[in-house]
Amino acid sequence: MTIPRYLLTLTCLALLSCTTSPEGRKQLQLIPDDQMDVMGAQSFEQIKQQTPITKDQNIQQYISCIANKIIPQVAQKPDPKQWEVLVFEDEQANAFALPGYKIGVYTGLLKYAKNQDQVAAVMGHEVAHVIAKHGNERVSNQMATEAGLTIATVILGGGTQDENSALILAGLGLGAQYGIILPFSRSHESEADLIGLDLMAKAGFDPAQSVPLWQNMSQSGAAPPEFMSTHPSSDTRIKQLQERIPAANIAYQEAVKKGQRANCKL
Ligand SMILES: [Zn+2]
Repeated sequence: MTIPRYLLTLTCLALLSCTTSPEGRKQLQLIPDDQMDVMGAQSFEQIKQQTPITKDQNIQQYISCIANKIIPQVAQKPDPKQWEVLVFEDEQANAFALPGYKIGVYTGLLKYAKNQDQVAAVMGHEVAHVIAKHGNERVSNQMATEAGLTIATVILGGGTQDENSALILAGLGLGAQYGIILPFSRSHESEADLIGLDLMAKAGFDPAQSVPLWQNMSQSGAAPPEFMSTHPSSDTRIKQLQERIPAANIAYQEAVKKGQRANCKL
């Protein structure tokens, strides 16, 4: 969902609710951070009730190991222990992160993300959506359009429980499973790719592995996961990543020099 720039500017002026993303883009943010955290945590509980959590402790430990390297790089979340990281048994090649310190990975992702660095590329991308507050922006943009009146109703406490949670899930990027799709925009995807690359590199994962990961994904022909569902096209995405890899590589080499190369094994 994109809204006309003049409308964004007017709404920003009227509500004084604009911020700037880590990549320097103006964003409408109508919902307080703590409310987004509550929404994220509620959505995560709902997913836990609906999707089996893996019983494979090796996979859970592998994913937790990767998350435990990435999470401390998230500057504005001071306590890494607040994060909950779970692996769900599901064939879809997908993962997600939610406000309220939640990360979910589906077992199907491991078919395409072949090593720790490739899993870290996906996780970094998902955590980047949270850092850049894309969920808040999506729900806010919805609220600022006619279609968003429904979401405004939700925020104000109207609607049924099921309607509410489906819309909130859609705002957080999880709607596909629930019949409502609000794809992340091209600008959100590009930002998440670039911020994610920096995160994984600082965490001691090889940023160059992001390229074969996205190539595996685009050639897979599998049901498109969140990060393949919208523009940019895979060629554009890979070109943008390649332009940023030299800068990310400096951070990665620093991490390696300090003995912080990641060592997560399945
Ligand atoms: Zn994404």
